[in-house]
Amino acid sequence: MSPSDQESLRHLKDLDIDNPGYCLLCNQAIEDPAHLILQCIHKTHFWRVALKITKVDIKLEDVWDTITFQSKATQDQLTLLGDIILVIWQHHWMCTINKIPWNTTHTIRRLRRVRWNKGIHFEDFHNAP
Ligand SMILES: [Zn+2]
Repeated sequence: MSPSDQESLRHLKDLDIDNPGYCLLCNQAIEDPAHLILQCIHKTHFWRVALKITKVDIKLEDVWDTITFQSKATQDQLTLLGDIILVIWQHHWMCTINKIPWNTTHTIRRLRRVRWNKGIHFEDFHNAP
């Protein structure tokens, strides 16, 4: 098993003293699902910027409830949230596997590319209602 495989499986071993499941990006908390997606300081910063520039009508404090089906969202909002989560997942594992720090600027660039590939161009992206 490669080291990166071991990293991805570290949550399965509760008593692994050498690797207790701390977030490798901030090293400040156990990396549970909410931390991985939203609560890590790096992810929170990314969410803040992404919600602002996409002008989606969802507050940061409502994101977790929305993505865990505890509050309603439109189809466009759900699609955007999916794109943001996709980018978080990709960037999280790229950083973890390559042992490089999180970079919100790169993450926003990746989100723009994902949206662009769906035909949401920069002008539309900025001017989205
Ligand atoms: Zn973290």
